[in-house]
Amino acid sequence: MEFDDLYAQSAKYECLLFDLDDTLYPLSSGLATACRQNIEGYMVEKLGIDKSKISDMSNLLYKNYGTTMAGLRAIGYEFDYDDYHSFVHGRLPYENLKQDHVLRNLLLSLPIRKVIFTNADEIHAAEVLSRLGLEGCFEGIICFETLNPTSESDGKGLRPTASANIFDILEHFSQHNDGSDLPKTPVLCKPSEVAIKQALNVANLDPERTIFFDDSVRNIQAGKNVGLHTVLVGTSNRVKGADFALESIHNIREALPELWEEAEKSDGVRYSSKVAMEVTA
Ligand SMILES: [Mg+2]
Repeated sequence: MEFDDLYAQSAKYECLLFDLDDTLYPLSSGLATACRQNIEGYMVEKLGIDKSKISDMSNLLYKNYGTTMAGLRAIGYEFDYDDYHSFVHGRLPYENLKQDHVLRNLLLSLPIRKVIFTNADEIHAAEVLSRLGLEGCFEGIICFETLNPTSESDGKGLRPTASANIFDILEHFSQHNDGSDLPKTPVLCKPSEVAIKQALNVANLDPERTIFFDDSVRNIQAGKNVGLHTVLVGTSNRVKGADFALESIHNIREALPELWEEAEKSDGVRYSSKVAMEVTA
């Protein structure tokens, strides 16, 4: 046992932390496009925002707040998060996601911790993992609800409403403002470093021994800022902040053979300890 303990202490990586959408399946599945359309639909139908402003507005909100939803809350809209999620994810073309036996086998062949970290809600995450056939491959899922627990007092069951003073983000940027004085959002999500640190905390992860996979450059850069090892997925072009870049998550073994080498050396003795998280995959 002593040798194993020593080995566990010296192992370079203890956990793989994966984004979900467009990371564990390709962008070409069409879910991201459909999701964006649904978000814009929510803004028009539920929040009564002028159709002509939607595209620019959702771009600015996404860019400045991490998710359009976080941005909508910041500028003064209120709504039930579950209602929002069921509207934007409820009609996604999930049938485009196929069982991925290759990825499943790759993941299961690695006896180290694996955790999902997504900005999406728990229902969506479970649906995607089920469609991909990846149930049981992850120790847990850190999702929207993990970082943003809600109660009746903070919007649950609330009908979508606009506060008396909606902050006009289009006007704000048309005045050549740099965004440094934007209103704050109550929503915690990537790429906020606070959100990433919180996720690491929840899963009890040491960033220096964790590899973070995400298709978003800004999430990868924020991950690097908090000390994670980083892998940009979806392109083979490595950007600043990314230690590796993979065209597809299927290339993980070719890009990071050391993970499997370490696993073989340790002979599978490094069992993970379960941690308490919102959802267990
Ligand atoms: Mg993603």
